[in-house]
Amino acid sequence: MLSFTAFRARNRAVSSLRSIATSAKPYRTTRSFLRHYASTTNAPPPVTKVEKLILDSIKATGPVSFATYMQTCLAHPTHGYYMDPEHPVFGSRGDFITSPEISQVFGELVAIWFLAQWQSAGSPSAIRLVELGPGRGTLMADVVRVITNLTAKLKPGLLKEIHLVETSKALREIQIEKLAPFRGQTGCAVEWHDDLDYIPSSPAFTMVVAHEFFDALPFYLIQKINDKEWREVRVASALTPLKDPRTESTEPLSTTETVPQGEHPDPESVYPRFRRALSPDPTAASIGTAVLSPRYENLAPGSLLEVSPTSYYKARQLATLLGSSKPKPAIENTQTPESNVPPNGGGCGLIIDYGDDKAFGNSFRAFKDHKIVDVFERPGQCDLTTNVDFALLREAMGDLVSSHGPLTQREFLIRMGISFRVSNLTKTQSEERKKAIVDAAERLMDPTGMGTEYKVLGFTSFRGERGEDGKLPPVYPF
Ligand code: SAH
Repeated sequence: MLSFTAFRARNRAVSSLRSIATSAKPYRTTRSFLRHYASTTNAPPPVTKVEKLILDSIKATGPVSFATYMQTCLAHPTHGYYMDPEHPVFGSRGDFITSPEISQVFGELVAIWFLAQWQSAGSPSAIRLVELGPGRGTLMADVVRVITNLTAKLKPGLLKEIHLVETSKALREIQIEKLAPFRGQTGCAVEWHDDLDYIPSSPAFTMVVAHEFFDALPFYLIQKINDKEWREVRVASALTPLKDPRTESTEPLSTTETVPQGEHPDPESVYPRFRRALSPDPTAASIGTAVLSPRYENLAPGSLLEVSPTSYYKARQLATLLGSSKPKPAIENTQTPESNVPPNGGGCGLIIDYGDDKAFGNSFRAFKDHKIVDVFERPGQCDLTTNVDFALLREAMGDLVSSHGPLTQREFLIRMGISFRVSNLTKTQSEERKKAIVDAAERLMDPTGMGTEYKVLGFTSFRGERGEDGKLPPVYPF
């Protein structure tokens, strides 16, 4: 059994999760996970602040979307999981540990890929770095260290700006401390933003990284109820009698949505305090998200889909940020008009996360103390996450940049020369230290864990000329 403290625990459930391709069964609200606590010695956990907020909102206006549930739990300005400075969040004391925290080699190889892209783009005279969701700032610190070390002699002052998109004030404090030494050394400006929208355009070559960012973004859960129609599955109160018309579901759910006579609960004893409910009518989310990708059209009735329009929008924003010149057309006289060329100076990016090149329908999960718990358990105090649909991100960016991959993290690291870097790094180390470095690298490449569950998607501003097949030249290591 793999220790959950070994790496970010929240990816462990991935391999056992069904993707939509295989989840054709109608969603059923299994009452079995509603635990009833009979005595005070076995009392359910106290109502959390976030839980109270959501229960009140449901009382006032009916079930809430999964997007609202997730966003309130993670990002409520004072009580959200990432917002509350009381939560240690990362590392062995927290609920998970991430790749950049496991080994410095991870960030170093990301930096090498960035520099290779910069060189292929003709070594522009200025670069800037952008990170979405920098956590403890470890990845950015490793990237900045490598870029400044490798370019210090030939191109001093090459790195002009660092932009960090981070909503958590508590994590910003940690990032400020982590990056302080580099601000002095490199003289580059470091800015924090609440959203990607606030990053200005720039003629600099932009290098973007988003590691374990997209999995934390809100999603909507929808279910196909017949050949054409989708309905939203929302979060209802488990304390509400199930015959409440606002929360009652239509077929195919209603048959399973009955509470045995006499069992309806003493509100104090019901736990978790939320349940899923299929909306009887179309909602804005069921209409709007079902059309986000043509891949959803042919799914079988009963299929469940976790769709994140926020992820789609942010991926598009990222691509716009690179704002490259358009690719040279295969046919000469269809040249893109000059006026369509955005002002930014081109660039490259990596999105690294767990997930796959497909949609998922049942990957939403929660983590507490390195263990999987029910998604409705202790709202606001557990990490919540879903698998990333990389195909959706590619579709979102498609006409703005070239996207590459996704590759498994293992393939990416191997092709980027992880073994060469590890053997250099261990040359002068004690046996004990050497073993720690090698073990950490192996953990990142584990074919039964992080190495395959995590994927790497690259994207670059359009470069080169299209071949006879209409494709732009491939970008190493994809
Ligand atoms: N990249 C880091 C941390 C991953 S955890 C690592 O791999 O170690 C997710 C990070 O994204 C946290 O820093 C969290 O505060 C941030 N975050 C989550 N949702 C966000 C949003 N909508 N906008 C900006 N930052 C967000």
